[in-house]
Amino acid sequence: MATLRFKMVEEAIKRKAVCVAAPEGRPSGYFGSRVFGREAMRKYLPKQTFEALSRTMEHGTPLSRETADSVAAGMKQWAMDMGATHYTHWFQPLTGGTAEKHDAFVEHDGRGGMIEEFSGKLLIQQEPDASSFPNGGIRNTFEARGYSAWDATSPAFVVDDTLCIPTIFIAYTGEALDYKVPLLRSLNAVDKAATAVCRYFDPAVEKVFSYLGWEQEYFLVDEGLWAARPDLMLTGRTLMGHESAKNQQLEDHYFGAIPTRVMAFMEDLEYECLKLGIPAKTRHNEVAPNQFELAPIYEETNLANDHNQLLMSTIKKVARRHSFRVLLHEKPFKGINGSGKHNNWSLGTDTGVNLLAPGKTPAGNLQFVTFLVNVLMAVYKHNGVLKASISSATNAHRLGANEAPPAIISVFLGSQVSEVLDRLERSTADQAIVFDGKSGFRMGGIAHIPELLIDNTDRNRTSPFAFTGNRFEFRAVGSSANCAGAMITLNTAVAAQLRDFKAAVDEKIAAGESREKALFTVLKACIGECKPIRFDGNGYCDRWKEEAARRGLDCETSVPLIFDRFMAPDTVKMFTGTGVLSEKELRARAEVYTETYTKKIQIEARVLGDLAMNHIIPVASRYQAMLLDKVDKINRMFPSGKSQMVASYDVGLIEKLSYHMTEIHAKTEALTDARKVANRIADEREKAIAYHDTVAPLFDEIRYHIDKLELIVDNEMWPLPKYRELLFIR
Ligand code: ADP
Ligand code: MG
Repeated sequence: MATLRFKMVEEAIKRKAVCVAAPEGRPSGYFGSRVFGREAMRKYLPKQTFEALSRTMEHGTPLSRETADSVAAGMKQWAMDMGATHYTHWFQPLTGGTAEKHDAFVEHDGRGGMIEEFSGKLLIQQEPDASSFPNGGIRNTFEARGYSAWDATSPAFVVDDTLCIPTIFIAYTGEALDYKVPLLRSLNAVDKAATAVCRYFDPAVEKVFSYLGWEQEYFLVDEGLWAARPDLMLTGRTLMGHESAKNQQLEDHYFGAIPTRVMAFMEDLEYECLKLGIPAKTRHNEVAPNQFELAPIYEETNLANDHNQLLMSTIKKVARRHSFRVLLHEKPFKGINGSGKHNNWSLGTDTGVNLLAPGKTPAGNLQFVTFLVNVLMAVYKHNGVLKASISSATNAHRLGANEAPPAIISVFLGSQVSEVLDRLERSTADQAIVFDGKSGFRMGGIAHIPELLIDNTDRNRTSPFAFTGNRFEFRAVGSSANCAGAMITLNTAVAAQLRDFKAAVDEKIAAGESREKALFTVLKACIGECKPIRFDGNGYCDRWKEEAARRGLDCETSVPLIFDRFMAPDTVKMFTGTGVLSEKELRARAEVYTETYTKKIQIEARVLGDLAMNHIIPVASRYQAMLLDKVDKINRMFPSGKSQMVASYDVGLIEKLSYHMTEIHAKTEALTDARKVANRIADEREKAIAYHDTVAPLFDEIRYHIDKLELIVDNEMWPLPKYRELLFIR
């Protein structure tokens, strides 16, 4: 009978916290100890090499072959001193996650022996077989070559016995096949565009950085219970399971005490993170039972994103040491909250100014308002593709449900900032910008933004994109996503907008207007234009959906159709105009995302069909057979009138079981048929639409009947660990 489930539950209950070796010394002592950062570089590289490499890291100057050889030699020595025997180019294909191909540091020495070898050539470039990574038609099979090339702006690190070198991944013909290439291009684009605008305020600014602070939500489940759930194993979520009588109603998990078994895991995880240079800072329980969050201190976006990717692989490994499995899926359990990955984002200058923090002077405030309004404009103009860049089969369970950001992108500003913008919009140039002899100029009515703002972040949890005092928080990003997807689009949209903005301001200046008034006039027009994106109300309510549609915001909820936004003329112009993605690259991406969508739904459909027919129906049948046997015996024992009465409850159950089994059977057949029809469609977009419209809707229908059976069938016979068993780690 359900021996496996019971055994696993019993083991899970008995499991104790795993003691991990306490970190030695203070975090500052071991932070980054497994990273080939500045300290290690200084120690292992000749002075000249160190300086040349620093220039490359800071300014992107190309590395000469000699320097590369010298870096490779030093890096290899360092890695071997750390115990590494292998190296790998570490890259981020469009499948999500990271890819690595490990090679040992050994080569033939030409005399029948082996030597440890690692040249600049191997450091800088490799040629992994690209044919097994999705490329959206960029790489024909006869031209399988793809290149990975070192991204010197992100330091190498050692994981276990392997030196990992962060790399970009491109096709032989130069197109991006990964997330890192367009991310780096978008960071460059926003740097150029924002620096040009900053120079209105401070000519000393030479570079603008994009910063990212992600907050990673995740679930933990006991490894044994996980292994007894094929749906969790194969799809990352439960495709069935009746809600636990108690889940998050009491709201007793959020910020509550962390269970000891989980605490031991978290300490271990943080230690590993810190050694790898991930500045882990915050940990706490999330809203749902078994849900937790880890957040680091924000970093420059490329590095922060590498760190999130590294975290996602590290967390899986550490979880297993503690007999947990980590679920990064956006919606592993029905009826309780899903997981997101809030992307806190800001722009800052090389002079140390956060461009999204209110300034201390009138010029500072004008600069703040300038960047704030340009971000609003960028999000307004490109809200459709921003949504596309966070959409996936898995995140779709979260968006639009009554818990997470809605499937409409809007911006929350809070009453104070809204008030500032409204006032500016109502002012004339002469009211807003008042020139006076002493301080140059002052801003009418908005001199006092600074102090109040930061404390008073009247939080709105329903907004997908919220201003939080000195940054924006893009909350709609999925917990399993590569942050780069969202960050590429956001930085590119802002870059494109800043360029348009500057052109408009320059035109007015050329026509003789003062710089401040020109800025104000263009800003005022922008504030008016982007108004529809501002929404401080409840994003979950139905009235907002109607209102958003009236405002012309993108309200599409079907993921395959949302992906159409990638090829919308405005999007193509935005990406090509900034040099971030060519039209071909964009189309390839849309295709990969679409195919991935189809495959995910396809896998879920197969797993669900299998579980329904091979796990659930047989168990329900067996239970029904027991009841039938019982009724048969009742009939034989009692005279006919009496037996009907005695057996009536069982007969009712038998009928219910039949009803649900019949429905499950019929709907599972319908599911298979719908899949077959969809599979015959050649066009990938049409196929994805068919999966969305005809396959996916059956999941909940089948699940409904399975969950009903779970309530009827003998608990001892039920094969799959139940929600109440999966969800409460003691
Ligand atoms: P919350 O209250 O939103 O849960 P957390 O403290 O969990 O806040 O996370 C906030 C995240 O925002 C952290 O990763 C933090 O480093 C990051 N952050 C703070 N300031 C900035 C900034 N200027 N730019 C980008 N990220 C930032
Ligand atoms: Mg947050």
